Amino acid sequence: MEKRRSWAEPFRIKVVEPIRMTTAEERERAIAEAGYNSFLLRSEDVYIDLLTDSGTSAMSDHQWAALMVGDEAYAGSRSFYRLVEAVEEVYGYQELVPTHQGRGAEHILSQILIEPGDVIPGNMYFTTTRFHQEYAGGRFVDVIVDEAHDPSSLYPFKGNFDLDKLQAVIDEHGAARIPYISFETNVNMAGGQPASMANLRATYELCRQHDILMILDATRALENAYYIQQREEGYADRSIAEILREICSYSDGATVSSKKDNLVNIGGFLALRDLDLATRARNLLVAFEGLQTYGGMSGRDMEALATGIREMVSTDDHVRARVGQVEYLGDLLIEAGIPVVRPIGGHGVFLDARAILPHLTQDLFPAQALTAALYVDGGVRGMERGIVSAGRDHETGEHHYPKLELVRLAIPRRVYTQAHMDVVAESIITVHEQRDRIGGLRFTYEPDELRFFQARFEPIPT
Ligand SMILES: *Cc1c(COP(=O)(O)O)cnc(C)c1O
Repeated sequence: MEKRRSWAEPFRIKVVEPIRMTTAEERERAIAEAGYNSFLLRSEDVYIDLLTDSGTSAMSDHQWAALMVGDEAYAGSRSFYRLVEAVEEVYGYQELVPTHQGRGAEHILSQILIEPGDVIPGNMYFTTTRFHQEYAGGRFVDVIVDEAHDPSSLYPFKGNFDLDKLQAVIDEHGAARIPYISFETNVNMAGGQPASMANLRATYELCRQHDILMILDATRALENAYYIQQREEGYADRSIAEILREICSYSDGATVSSKKDNLVNIGGFLALRDLDLATRARNLLVAFEGLQTYGGMSGRDMEALATGIREMVSTDDHVRARVGQVEYLGDLLIEAGIPVVRPIGGHGVFLDARAILPHLTQDLFPAQALTAALYVDGGVRGMERGIVSAGRDHETGEHHYPKLELVRLAIPRRVYTQAHMDVVAESIITVHEQRDRIGGLRFTYEPDELRFFQARFEPIPT
């Protein structure tokens, strides 16, 4: 490949959406009204929205055009068959079960495979994935490599399964109690960290030896493919499309939230190889999501999704610019000495709140407090990924105490410019200089499940 000067975007801007500037006083009021929870802010009060890269991508002209040709037939929609073809071509799975988003696929998968008392090993947890495993009566066990829990480790594949840990879980519980393993690509909660192809292959082999299914959470498999191309021996000259197909070849199926890699604002799917399993999934689908040829999506959604799936691998420049922009922001922060999770991950920059606010113990919610302080300073909205997100142990009622206490600044795809990234870095550096002034928070409302979405807090008086 020809060497180019930078990661600059392989597109130009055709439509713009104005955003509102606010004053510090307005933002102080807004965050108090939102109970110091960035999920409860109104987006109108946000300048640069890095809450999530989920469903916030800018669609291309081809995707917008595809909406117009969506087939809204209740059964047998043409757009469904276009989606089936795209998923088979790009991911390599024959059986497609369309859902309204990733958690719809996780729900169906968990219900068809998990019996009460089962154990599901995975590489770090994801909030909705673990919820559905537990909701079906299973228990999630983390078997990610130790490096994933160390924000300063520069290990290139922090998303890897630790095969000794996996073997120990199999020895302890027996393969019959493990309906599948849940292998997440580019592990979200670890900071967008990839697994290596060698690890995917070895994990799949171990699963086959024990007759355990390997299901990918392939939501961020595209970004994982990019890291394999950049970091793993033997892949530098392989295309992203080829690498993605190989990743999926080491699995029996996948759940995907299409709101990430796939460049649409809503959608998702469960993809499988086995027709019997897919039939069981479709039987539940018709009860919980919709008929098997639309699941939770409209015809136009499926049309835009099929186009997005092809587009994301049509040139390697797309993912290169996507990850390049994230790394650009990360490098600005590293140069300024801000503690961040390293290496910089695929979809965002993760601030190490524990290192930034050593004066706050974890039960004073340092990442939640830092997220609120960042919003007040510059109108930048991030998300807590620490003790609040980790929730409580259902048996003991205690908080889970995750090793990582992070503020995630997720970068939407194709939405913000390099100048926006400069503004974000300036604001973080300012807040970091004044970090001694940031105090702890306490709950005023704590939901039982997935508490981070709707929880409310107040500052602890000093
Ligand atoms: C976003 C996400 C999900 C859940 O998908 P939704 O579309 O939000 O329901 C699952 N796994 C990973 C890795 C994700 O990033």
